[in-house]
Amino acid sequence: RLRARRNFKKLKEDQDRMLKAAILNSDRLESLITGILDFGKIESGQMTSYPKAIDPGKIAAEAFEGLRPWVLKKQVGMSLAVTPGLPLVYADEGRTVQVLVNLLSNAIKFTPASGKIVLSAVRVPGGEKFVQFSVKDTGSGIPPAEHKRIFEKFVQIASGEMHVGGTGLGLAIAKALVHLQGGKMWVESEVGQGATFFFTLPQFIDINRDAPSSPELAAPKVWWKQFLGLD
Ligand code: ADP
Repeated sequence: RLRARRNFKKLKEDQDRMLKAAILNSDRLESLITGILDFGKIESGQMTSYPKAIDPGKIAAEAFEGLRPWVLKKQVGMSLAVTPGLPLVYADEGRTVQVLVNLLSNAIKFTPASGKIVLSAVRVPGGEKFVQFSVKDTGSGIPPAEHKRIFEKFVQIASGEMHVGGTGLGLAIAKALVHLQGGKMWVESEVGQGATFFFTLPQFIDINRDAPSSPELAAPKVWWKQFLGLD
């Protein structure tokens, strides 16, 4: 009876392990397929984007909250620093969250336990027309010679001892999505010093608010007021 119970326990552990591996593999496959599909759409000019006026702080918070469970599990610190009173940006909300989630997942992936990650949104220093997002980590860093190449499709750089999964498509897609919305993306990093990924998005400009009032658009004069000499 004891043996039967032991066998049963062993069977249960094996099943758990196999189930976990199956889930992990199917997650990997799903992210590979979505990546390839997204990239196909970008390359053929079919990627859609529905820009509207959105709050950069709200987008940053959404991406931040989505990754919190993973951060807790990996035991790295993650904080959010959004300049108060930022202007609205003109961008696709879902796509922008996708870009931030990608940068944050990379940061978590390449930062060892007890490291730190900061997600920021600020006005572009010295510029008026863009808001700048950044994801800074204290992870393995990237040699300057690779700073351009990592944004190419299927490029993955060996990071020391760290063996981490991925497809090498994430940054290529993120950069294309940012460009599609009129922004730029780049990285600043030294090996062993962590990495900071930056991207910008255009501010929303309310053309109705700032437009000079044209005579045609001004309220039409009421003929009878003029007739009575009231205008
Ligand atoms: P993936 O993460 O799926 O490998 P990406 O296109 O997102 O693909 O990243 C490409 C490569 O850039 C990674 O394999 C890694 O070598 C490097 N990289 C990306 N983000 C970071 C980071 N925060 N720190 C260090 N290396 C990074």
